[in-house]
Amino acid sequence: MTIRPLVIIPDSKLRLVSEPVQEITSEIRRLADDMLETMYDAPGVGLAAIQIGIPVRMVTMDVSKTEDERQPMVLINPEILWASEEKRVYEEGCLSIPEYYEEVERPDRVRFRYMNLEGATIEQDADGLLATCVQHEIDHLNGVLFIDYLSKLKRDRVVTKFKKAAKREAGA
Ligand code: ZN
Repeated sequence: MTIRPLVIIPDSKLRLVSEPVQEITSEIRRLADDMLETMYDAPGVGLAAIQIGIPVRMVTMDVSKTEDERQPMVLINPEILWASEEKRVYEEGCLSIPEYYEEVERPDRVRFRYMNLEGATIEQDADGLLATCVQHEIDHLNGVLFIDYLSKLKRDRVVTKFKKAAKREAGA
């Protein structure tokens, strides 16, 4: 397993729409391992493949509270089947937007479907952190970031900050 470098805003890769996984190959299994390793190392509760620069529809998540009881999930081609009318506000962060947290309103409960690494199709209901996380990660597969739900003022402020940091890093 390898910890891969994270893709950070304003990298335009984060705006790509990822392609469906056609077949679960050894390469896909290795990618899942690397994504989990990278996510735990960060540390984060969710990671989409595009966040390590691979535009395929794959997500890893672990919303368990303790390190001794890890519950790694690998979601292949995940999709939201249903979302509740009721909304919930949760303070979100993103490994591609380091150390920035802001409240986002999303549906409180969702039903989602995905394929696991064994090729089985799974339907699951979620609320709480899992519901927020799965919506956030599926957004990544469509090139959407949580800052897109904020006011233009807030979004511009954070994007500008990271653009400046990227420029400094490039020595411009
Ligand atoms: Zn994210």
